[in-house]
Amino acid sequence: MATILVVEDEVKLRDVLRSYLERAGFAVLGTGSGAEAMGLAQTATPDLMVLDLRLPDIAGEEVAREIRTFSGLPILMLTAKTAEEDRIRGLEVGADDYLTKPFSRVELLARLQAISRRQVSRSDPVTTFDDGTLHVDFAHQEVTIDGNPIVLTPTEYRLLATLARHQGQVLSSDQLIELAWDDPSGLAPSRVKYAVLRLRRKLGWDEGDDTPIETVRGFGYRYRSKAR
Ligand code: CA
Repeated sequence: MATILVVEDEVKLRDVLRSYLERAGFAVLGTGSGAEAMGLAQTATPDLMVLDLRLPDIAGEEVAREIRTFSGLPILMLTAKTAEEDRIRGLEVGADDYLTKPFSRVELLARLQAISRRQVSRSDPVTTFDDGTLHVDFAHQEVTIDGNPIVLTPTEYRLLATLARHQGQVLSSDQLIELAWDDPSGLAPSRVKYAVLRLRRKLGWDEGDDTPIETVRGFGYRYRSKAR
């Protein structure tokens, strides 16, 4: 569940925001103080921030500028003023978008959704996989299980990395050959079967039904996390 930090000193409006957001499935942290907001942005690591421009202690612009020095936290600025100047000022200090009061619940949620979408497309590609047992560092091609390094051949590594990247999804032998083998031309699907057997053995996962690398008979293979 994503957490949203709502910074608004008008208690009534803060309560309205809280109820809109909670009904939309967010966890909500609220404060009316800019100083407290800066602290919460650091300690509570929210996923998004709704920030009023007019706060009694520190101006919203100042809060946004300060937060930008240590965090890329997405910020939706609330403003009562409609002057273009104010909107632009808000965006210059690092707000991702603004919303002019009064606004509807639908407008608020649409803005937040747009911000999250931009955030996802902007963020770095996945560089690691970790389910609490298996850890794969895609950049360094390193694999550990419960913290113990595992030495794999390049093909075994790519096979495991491919299955982990598509966890929960069944991949056919042909798909795995395409994704994990250097030269996939003319390889028989039985090569995948034996590679999977060797990989499971190296990982210590070859005992029966409990292996995270499952054989889905007639379809292919699937990585299913067994970590609790
Ligand atoms: Ca205010």
